[in-house]
This record gives sequence, C-alpha cells and structure tokens, in this order.
Amino acid sequence: MFIAQQTKPNEQEKETIFPGKIMFISVHGSPLAKLGGIQSGGQNVYVRELVKALDQLGVTVDVFTHWTDISQPQITPMGKKSRVIRLAAGSPGFRPKHEMAGNLPKFLKELKQYMTSPYSYTLIHSNYWLSGWVGLNLRRSSRMKLIHTSHSLGAVRKGALIKTPDPSMTNRLNIEKELFQTADRVIATSPSEKAVLSNYYTVPSKKIKVVPCGINAGIFHPDNQKSKPDHLPLKKRMILFVGRFEENKGLNILLQSLVILQNKFPLTAASTCLTVVGGDELNLLPHQISPEKQRYLDFIKAKGLTDLVKFIGPISHEDLVTYYRNASITIIPSFYESFGLVAVEAMASGCPVIASRTGGLADNVINGKTGFLVKPKDPEELAGAINKLLTDEQLRRHMKKEASIHGRQFSWLDIAWNMLSIYKEVIGCQTTTLNGIPDIS
Ligand code: UDP
Repeated sequence: MFIAQQTKPNEQEKETIFPGKIMFISVHGSPLAKLGGIQSGGQNVYVRELVKALDQLGVTVDVFTHWTDISQPQITPMGKKSRVIRLAAGSPGFRPKHEMAGNLPKFLKELKQYMTSPYSYTLIHSNYWLSGWVGLNLRRSSRMKLIHTSHSLGAVRKGALIKTPDPSMTNRLNIEKELFQTADRVIATSPSEKAVLSNYYTVPSKKIKVVPCGINAGIFHPDNQKSKPDHLPLKKRMILFVGRFEENKGLNILLQSLVILQNKFPLTAASTCLTVVGGDELNLLPHQISPEKQRYLDFIKAKGLTDLVKFIGPISHEDLVTYYRNASITIIPSFYESFGLVAVEAMASGCPVIASRTGGLADNVINGKTGFLVKPKDPEELAGAINKLLTDEQLRRHMKKEASIHGRQFSWLDIAWNMLSIYKEVIGCQTTTLNGIPDIS
C-alpha cells in the first residue's frame, strides 16, 4: 500500500496538474480547528494535511465546514490557492456531531451559494457520512463526481464499539449504503476498512481505493537534541496516551492495566508514569469537566494511581512530538480505529507502540518489530506487554529504530499524489507522472 516517493512539480507543471477546483466537504471536522477535543481529531488532520499537500502540488481546493468557532472569519486561506469556507448552517457555534444531521439541508443550501456555475468545482471529496449526505445530494443534482472517505463506519461503531442503542444509527447506515453505491470512488484508509466496505456494505471492489493517512515528516521524526516535557519526573519512564476522551479510545482499559502492573509488576510500576494528552482542557471548573474525564479521575483516585498519571490536555503537533520522542511506549488501547494516526506519528518520532489488534492499527503496527499488538479490551494482556517492553532496554532500542523507519514511510505528499491520480481517473483525465509517462500503477 505504500507509494513510491514522488518529487515536487515545478511551477510550470503545477499550472496544468489538475483542471478546475476541488470541493472538500468536512461538516464537523474543520481543518483549522484545535486538535484533541471531543470532536476534533484524525479527520481534521486528514483534511488539513491532504489539502495542504494538494495545494503544494498546484491543486486548488475549497473546504466547506461548519462555522463551529465563531471567533474565526468565514473564509480563511489555506496554502497558496486553497481556502476554508465556514457555513453557519442555521446557527454558528459548537454543535455535537449527533445534532448536525438535522442541519444538513441548511448546510447544503448555503454551500450552493458558492457554486456560481455548474462548473465551479470539478469534483467533490466528502469526509464522514454527514458530509457524504451533502455530497450525495450534490452528486444527484450536478455532473460532479464524488469521492468519499468515511473516517469511521456506522457498521463498525454498531458492532464493535457502541453497546448503548444509538437512535440515529439506522439513518446513518441507510445514508452510508446509498452513499457508497452512488460515490464514484470510496477511499479506505486501511485494508481492514476495505474489508468492512466490501463485506458489510457490499461496495464493489473496483470502486474501493486503499489510500493510507500520512504524517508531517517535518514534525514527526526522532530528534537528537532531546528536549524534555517540563513535568516529566526524573528516573521515571513515560508511557503515553494521546486521544480524544471517548470510551472507544480505551483509556479506561489502560488505567486498569496500570492497576495490574502495580499488583503484578510493582518494580516496573514504581519507575513508570503515564502521560495523557488530549481531551479536556486543563483548569476547567468542576462543573465543566466532561463525564468521561470525571470517570477516569474517580478511577485513578479509587485505585491509588494519582502519582502515576498526569493529564496534559490538548496540544498541537509541534508540542506533541516532544512527548512521542521522550516516551518509552505510546499505548493505543482503542476498541477500533479505521487508521489510527497516533500510532504512525509515534512510530515516525521513534517511539514503539503497543496497540489493540484491530482495524488500521493491526495493519500499521508491525507486531514484534515496531511494537506489540494486543487483544482489544484486555487489560491483563496489555499490562504484560507494557512490562515486557519496559523491562527490555535492548528490545526497546531496536523497536525505536524500526518504528521510525516504518512510520516515516507515510508521507502526505505521496498520499496527495496518489489521491490526485484517483481524482484524474474519475474525471477521465489521463494520469501522468511528472516526466509525462502514463502512470499504470
Ligand atoms: N491530536 C493532537 N493533539 C491532541 C490530541 C490529539 O494533535 O491533544 C491529534 C493526533 O496527533 C492525531 C489526531 O489528533 O493526529 C487523532 O487521530 P487518530 O486517527 O489517532 O484518532 P481519531 O481522532 O481519528 O479517532
């Protein structure tokens, strides 16, 4: 699934790289939003980095998103020719994802005001089923082709993740089914996602393209200068969790495994600390703390883990890389991930990963080489793997090296090239490489 390293086009080549403009739709995932909060994670990074890379190649993109942060202007430039356009869709300001479905017709209506002619955009790339609904409606009423990336699939959430009934799930599954049949291409970010698209949604194989996510190699790489996060206690090994506070991310499983570590491997536990990045901002008033964080705090207090766990709150990629570089292990105990950007970022920064053997994590982490894969939702197995890696310095050093080699293969620029050839194929434009030879890959 890796793509050969591509060179950048020169200014003349950029002029002819793609005819017209591309419309990205990412209703709840603004590419310029602060990351790590309840509703901003991988999808925001995907849209931001892919659009930046496409723009670098000379492609013009308009990203339409909900106007979630009213302190932002309606239009912000991105790169040289691309921009983010925020739509109020009835009312601007933060709105939980599950409430957005009802406002999609308004979003669609406002978006259409930017389509001054039937040729305003050459094609649509929608992200997540909410945006897919908007794309589906535009596809039906125009000649524009539709490419869709799901980021998360209703079938997976229903089966593996959410145990409490979700009243919007039937609607979501119906929209996804119609969307995947209508879209001209469906992007799977991992082979595991492709399998769900084929088996559950019966999407024809030729319509699915596997294109992974990437990392910003300018940020996520090992660094010899060894700057340290301020709070890191001396003589303690840091294990790291990075993610939104959502049950499916499995932080509760990791906390349970710390209890097991304390009981079964007290020497390891005594020299270890857990840093949690993402989730609630720090210094919130008690009534502002999310129920998820409150559950973690209650558990930590009840089990006597207070000295072991440090919450950092959401931070930028530029700050996050220092944590990856200083961590002995990054742990990703998710119940499922379509891709799992954190795993690849950590590896690229030279940090071994212990991740659940599920979804894109199982595709991207090489078990025994760049880290370990463990059974999801099994704190016992996770504790064993943490102990094994923390007590074997030589293995850790070896994995650090392998992880950084492996992780740094995922480059957004290469991914943008790959996506561009899919766009061109869909609009019937001959795909060429930079030196003009037709691309038959
Ligand atoms: N992230 C971040 N700051 C934080 C927490 C998370 O920048 O405080 C980023 C993280 O680096 C990654 C993304 O949010 O790029 C999470 O993507 P992932 O695929 O791991 O999970 P998702 O959010 O899609 O479920």
